[in-house]
Amino acid sequence: MAKVLVLGGGFAGVEAAIFLRKQELDVTLVSDRDYFYIYPTSIWVPTGEATKEDVSVPLDKLAFAHGFKLIVDPVTKIEAQEKKVILQSSRVLEGYDYIVVAMGQDKIQHTGMEHTLSICGKPEEATELYKRLSALVQKGSGKIAMGFGGNPKDTSAVRGGPAFEVLFNVDTYLKRKGLRENFELTFFAPMEKPGMKMGHNAVGMMDKMFEMTHIHKKVGSKIISFEADGINFEDGTKIESDLTMFIAAGTGQGIVAQSGLPLSEAGFVVTNEYNEVEGFEGIYAIGDSASLMGPDWRAKQGHVAEVMARNVAYNIFQHAQNIDSKRGYLEHINILCVMDTGNGAAFVHRDDKGGKMIPMPVIGHWMKKGWGWYCRNSKLGKIPRIPGM
Ligand SMILES: Cc1cc2nc3c(=O)[nH]c(=O)nc-3n(C[C@H](O)[C@H](O)[C@H](O)COP(=O)(O)OP(=O)(O)OC[C@H]3O[C@@H](n4cnc5c(N)ncnc54)[C@H](O)[C@@H]3O)c2cc1C
Repeated sequence: MAKVLVLGGGFAGVEAAIFLRKQELDVTLVSDRDYFYIYPTSIWVPTGEATKEDVSVPLDKLAFAHGFKLIVDPVTKIEAQEKKVILQSSRVLEGYDYIVVAMGQDKIQHTGMEHTLSICGKPEEATELYKRLSALVQKGSGKIAMGFGGNPKDTSAVRGGPAFEVLFNVDTYLKRKGLRENFELTFFAPMEKPGMKMGHNAVGMMDKMFEMTHIHKKVGSKIISFEADGINFEDGTKIESDLTMFIAAGTGQGIVAQSGLPLSEAGFVVTNEYNEVEGFEGIYAIGDSASLMGPDWRAKQGHVAEVMARNVAYNIFQHAQNIDSKRGYLEHINILCVMDTGNGAAFVHRDDKGGKMIPMPVIGHWMKKGWGWYCRNSKLGKIPRIPGM
């Protein structure tokens, strides 16, 4: 039986392990955390609507449900040519026929970033955002700034949606507390038209939502540095802030950079559309770790990571049997999300035909909650999977 080593226990790694097991292969998953973190529903952690535990699924439960082996021990080195992986405990993993790299991405570092917290970083940061926001609510007033940064080397690694979501959720939360007028909320991003990936219609709608919610907007100027009390921009202005949430754009992982695998300019693993790393037989890269091919507006997303994972499970199984049949991800590139506001949401979809954003007051919020429940329970095998989800 072919032996497969999956590195990373996020959307990509977990989905790959589940689908590789459906082919009855011998699968081992290695993760630095003992849980799978459902990032899309973590946007409710800062306002206390969910806890870290609510949006985490223990990896041992997933391993038990699907019959894969689990090692919780951070990967410290990948020697791609030798198909050898070294863990923090000094344990050496070798002798695998296939390796699937699914360790996510690192973040671009900015001066003073220690003064910020990110909803897209370590899960503990979301909990810290909750504590800091609660302290401001206790105080009764404050200035809050939330935004995201760019990556000129790879726009697919720019993640803006969660900044909009957390900011609108904070607005709704403060209104419910009867404190909104005591707080100044500001959105910031260096590009002229943040959110443009979602299309013109979406950018226009976001502007209207900022006006309606009295959220200030600072765009079109490079971020120079963060300080304990705010953010400095290239045009000489400063946003005063007691609490700054900043999503730095993604960049390739340090461990991957030392692995000998081919990298894009931004440090992501270069693969073909079947997620094979050409020149390294039996090595695949999927999810945020992989350099995403496709149109200019493409974005690294969880549902694309899962398509890659299911394809790789199929491709490995076929390869193991010497069958020349492969599935690629390019036809599945689109942007899909339910952008939550705490009291509703907007359905966002972008493909080659263009983008649309459809407001879904009240019901959208509950749809996203329903998806979170589905994600957890379907992965645990407690409810059937909806095909393609
Ligand atoms: C707040 C937020 C909201 C989002 N909303 C949406 C949405 O609505 N729709 C959508 O499609 N996408 C959304 N995304 C994007 C989506 O979550 C990512 O594209 C997805 O998580 C990528 O999956 P991944 O497995 O490649 O990476 P990750 O989910 O980041 O998983 C990487 C895994 O590798 C592990 N790892 C890292 N380093 C090591 C190491 N050295 N050793 C061992 N293990 C390691 C990590 O612990 C982690 O489990 C959102 C992202 C965020 C942050």
